[in-house]
Amino acid sequence: MPVLVMKFGGTSVANLDRIKRAAKRVGVEVAKGYDVIVIVSAMSGKTNEMVGWVNETSPLFDAREYDAVVSSGENVTAGLMALTLQEMDIPARSWQGWQVPLKTTSAHSQARIEEIPPENINAKFGEGMRVAVVAGFQGISAEGRITTLGRGGSDTTAVAFAAAFEAERCDIYTDVDGVYTTDPRICGKARKLDKISFEEMLELASLGAKVLQTRSVELAMRYKVKLRVLSSFEEQSDAAGTLVCDEEEIMESNVVAGVAYSRDEAKVTLMSVADRPGIAAIIFNALSDGGVNVDMIVQNISEDGRTDMTFSCPTDQVSRADQALLRIKEQGELNYAELVADKDVAKVSVVGIGMRSQSGVAAKMFKVLSDEGINIKVITTSEIKISVLIDRKYMELAVQALHDAFELDKAA
Ligand code: ADP
Ligand code: ASP
Ligand code: MG
Repeated sequence: MPVLVMKFGGTSVANLDRIKRAAKRVGVEVAKGYDVIVIVSAMSGKTNEMVGWVNETSPLFDAREYDAVVSSGENVTAGLMALTLQEMDIPARSWQGWQVPLKTTSAHSQARIEEIPPENINAKFGEGMRVAVVAGFQGISAEGRITTLGRGGSDTTAVAFAAAFEAERCDIYTDVDGVYTTDPRICGKARKLDKISFEEMLELASLGAKVLQTRSVELAMRYKVKLRVLSSFEEQSDAAGTLVCDEEEIMESNVVAGVAYSRDEAKVTLMSVADRPGIAAIIFNALSDGGVNVDMIVQNISEDGRTDMTFSCPTDQVSRADQALLRIKEQGELNYAELVADKDVAKVSVVGIGMRSQSGVAAKMFKVLSDEGINIKVITTSEIKISVLIDRKYMELAVQALHDAFELDKAA
């Protein structure tokens, strides 16, 4: 029988009623003749609560235990979803990551999926099971430890299952009815897109649009998974939601496809480091070893052989960065005057494949921000995106002003 993957995010399984609603939707697809793999998130708020517990217990936690704790929310919803389906007389059972087994790397809290052998689940489908409910976000390492795939990782679980089982489609059910030109929660004029290219979705996701985890988009692009984002709260037609697809399938698109933001950024500057070959390698090696995800990097002009090195990272990793750099300073590998951290910044980005062929987007973006009196602290660009770091208090204003200026409320 054809296989369909349906993923339900946190708000879509937030309580027993919501789980029932989601199960009904699964029932519709089962009735159409699909064998369904349902991927569930933890009930909304649960993962955050557990992350908080871990941080409170051990600020520089052992990531293996972090994973043991934060993966557990998905176990609850997987079991409840299987029970709900059974109550509807649909043969279903739950699977935790290790039972599948969903094999991952050992990079705890950020693990990557290596393999999903389909045999165990297929054997059960062969015996008449119609729905495999799989706990999203979690897997098992070669060492036999529980791993997690990074925040929002259930999206990636879903796409990886769709690839492994050659599913007809991977439907991501969430609390908005598709992918918008920007987060509809902070911009009332945001417009739902019927289609978005993999490339643009990949950039938007990696720049903060959390509607899909970045890695899920990468996998969908690589394995040609038909990926759709739609609401679990509305009645659906076959054309509902947003289809993430190849660029060639989209006839017309704006130069800028969307605006993304990331709220929890910090700008860290190492004051007065030696300006000589090898210093950047020492700094960024230490940060990588310390588990810090560095994003933007700027080296300032040098004076008397010394320079300032600025980088950005998630706000909650500043103390890790501080510790990692202090360690190499104490070991005499690096000398710097002080580390200055600005934790009140946000990143705002515009994304569009049209930028490849049209110039002037950066100039327009900077003018819009300047007209709003917003100071730009750091800039980075790539072929299809421009990102700026600004004071967090201006983040929403910047998103709205850019959305207006690039007329994203109007279709191309
Ligand atoms: P789930 O729990 O279902 O995985 P998430 O909270 O992870 O849901 O992702 C959905 C949220 O993503 C929406 O509620 C919305 O606020 C946010 N979002 C950010 N950018 C976008 C965008 N461009 N289009 C749609 N939603 C977006
Ligand atoms: N529950 C996990 C999180 O909140 C994974 C997910 O929902 O995708 O990040
Ligand atoms: Mg999510």
